[in-house]
Amino acid sequence: MLENKRESRTELSNLGEFKLIDRITKQFVIKNKGTIKGVGDDCAIIENKKSQTLITTDLLIEGVHFDLSYMPLKHLGYKAVMVNLSDIYAMNGIANQITVSIALSNRFTLEAVEELYEGIYLACKNYKMDLIGGDTTSSTKGILISITAIGEANKEDVVYRSGAKPNDLLVVSGDLGAAYLGLQVLEREKQVFQVNPNAQPELDNYSYLVERQLKPEARKDIVEMLAEMSVRPTSMIDISDGLSSEILHLCKQSKVGCNLHEDKIPLDQQVISTCEEFQINSTTVALSGGEDYELLFTISQDDFPKIKGNPNLTVIGYMTEESEGKHLITRANQKIELIAQGWNSLNKE
Ligand code: ADP
Ligand code: MG
Repeated sequence: MLENKRESRTELSNLGEFKLIDRITKQFVIKNKGTIKGVGDDCAIIENKKSQTLITTDLLIEGVHFDLSYMPLKHLGYKAVMVNLSDIYAMNGIANQITVSIALSNRFTLEAVEELYEGIYLACKNYKMDLIGGDTTSSTKGILISITAIGEANKEDVVYRSGAKPNDLLVVSGDLGAAYLGLQVLEREKQVFQVNPNAQPELDNYSYLVERQLKPEARKDIVEMLAEMSVRPTSMIDISDGLSSEILHLCKQSKVGCNLHEDKIPLDQQVISTCEEFQINSTTVALSGGEDYELLFTISQDDFPKIKGNPNLTVIGYMTEESEGKHLITRANQKIELIAQGWNSLNKE
């Protein structure tokens, strides 16, 4: 549907593994001084001076995590990197290197793999990352991508999920729910396209939603901004599965309760109007939608003046004693128990 159809078609079987690796990695240049050796030997080498090393990995499988009928390969490459960087930033770290491993069925050509790596290249460029290695193999069906991101942080700067204290403020970056709705819009267009292949996708009214689904940005800027403002979160997590499930992770690991205020949840205007159109509850979408890749964190009340009025950040609630439980305070001022749904359950509604 949105896929770039290219003219040339180079079969991978004609090229061979080593030429393929060469083709896709040669444009990457090392940018970080901690990267001693990148692609080309049996191992990559990284040197950290005094910091701690942060490592995170994600595995994405075609048909499970993405659908190439509306996810262009370039976007897939970009997003696959973002998903990992988001985890490094959620520890208050700096991301420096990635490895990328791919398994490809014979459906994929050199041109397709190059398109994927264009997205990976752009992500590395925008976020000052080095591609330092990976693995390339075949698959019997579809494409698999596994990315590992490596970052660093001074020991005293690392923020765990477990540091929140009662009375800490609960803060979120950006706005929520758009990526989930973007997926719904794309799914709907896919169905229209299957019935009528000549139909042009109608995405104008949903541009922000589709962009949030196809081209998310990891919030490196928030980590840098917090450092500049001398705000060190007491706990932090990135929002990949939906606000409610991430809040519950913070509560569980920090052994605290929370009150989340429904009227404070930040929503884009397009999210509000699309929820009305689709007749779904925007709070449900924000709580359970997922794939927002925003940062959710807690700060001490003493730090509130530093973030007050900041357009990138919203205080959505506060932490309580564990015994008080975990609650959503609705617009009607009702107190209901906060439960994790995760975004899969939304699909069943
Ligand atoms: P090995 O046999 O030691 O696993 P490979 O021939 O698989 O080595 O890889 C050669 C070099 O290319 C290594 O540095 C490896 O990390 C890198 N590499 C292999 N596949 C990829 C890939 N898909 N993306 C980036 N680097 C890769
Ligand atoms: Mg190998």
